[in-house]
Amino acid sequence: PRVIETNLTEEDKKIEKTLRPQCLDDYIGQEKAKSILKIYIEAAKQRHDSLDHVLFYGPPGLGKTTLAGIIANEMGVNMKVTSGPAIEKPGEMAAILNNLQEGDLLFVDEIHRLNRQVEEVLYPAMEDFAIDIMIGKGSTARSVRLDLPHFTLVGATTRAGLLTAPLRDRFGMIHHMEFYTEDELKLIIKQSAKVLNVKIEDAGATELARRSRGTPRLANRILKRVRDFAQVKYNGVITETVAHTALDLMDVDTLGLDRVDRNILVTIIEKFGGGPVGLDTLAASIGEDAGTIEDVYEPYLLMKGLIDRTPRGRVATQIAYTHLGL
Ligand code: ADP
Repeated sequence: PRVIETNLTEEDKKIEKTLRPQCLDDYIGQEKAKSILKIYIEAAKQRHDSLDHVLFYGPPGLGKTTLAGIIANEMGVNMKVTSGPAIEKPGEMAAILNNLQEGDLLFVDEIHRLNRQVEEVLYPAMEDFAIDIMIGKGSTARSVRLDLPHFTLVGATTRAGLLTAPLRDRFGMIHHMEFYTEDELKLIIKQSAKVLNVKIEDAGATELARRSRGTPRLANRILKRVRDFAQVKYNGVITETVAHTALDLMDVDTLGLDRVDRNILVTIIEKFGGGPVGLDTLAASIGEDAGTIEDVYEPYLLMKGLIDRTPRGRVATQIAYTHLGL
């Protein structure tokens, strides 16, 4: 798989468990979310009540699942994990909700992919901690309301705009996950290096942080690859040179861009005269899914100021021309 692949790979699964911070104080970055959550958690604990439902949105790999786990830890409750595409029938959602214990946290990844009927089960569940189930058939059918334990739903999605309004409105807190700064990533890399027992020099960590696309998942993955590289060729120490050489080999450039990112920029510039070009046209032109461009690639390119979004489409900026040497 490509280094830049921000979705979870098999390789990540093995190391991510050991690298996940367990409490709010060890969770680096996302300062705004953390300070608000601290207050929410404290207040809920004082009231002996479940925490209000929370929605996290933003590109993959920025720590949504990790933060949900930390909320559960801080609240002292269990976390059950599921995802939008995994639940096909309303009955399955009802069963999951009915099996929750008082206070439990239900994490629903890719919550925008719940189908409409399943989603409708959530409305009364989130609002009144109850579900309505139909008993009997035909003329004798009647709806019975079943009480649920008080629980906290934590939803994750790549874009808040993908959620229907009635679902979005039922979250007490909606938080946008930010890309991590270089300094934050450097801390994460150093922390992970300790856990993985890898020697890394400060300049090596800086280089990895700069090229990790503001994303902890990528920082950890790159660290692991570079570690292997250092082990085989450079006595196991990640120096600036080792980091630099390894990342060049992985085709990740100095801004953390990979082939697809550069292809997006080059296409806008060379095929469409710098833009504006519509998302669908651009997607067709480079053979990528429009949704993936919008959720995974574009946020980082926008953050780095390499492209602009205008009402008429995407435009490459001067920074992009300069970066590509065009
Ligand atoms: P998401 O759910 O947004 O796709 P994850 O929560 O699965 O992202 O995060 C991916 C990995 O990145 C985690 O396993 C963890 O190792 C690391 N990570 C994420 N956020 C942080 C953070 N704030 N501090 C330290 N490590 C983090």
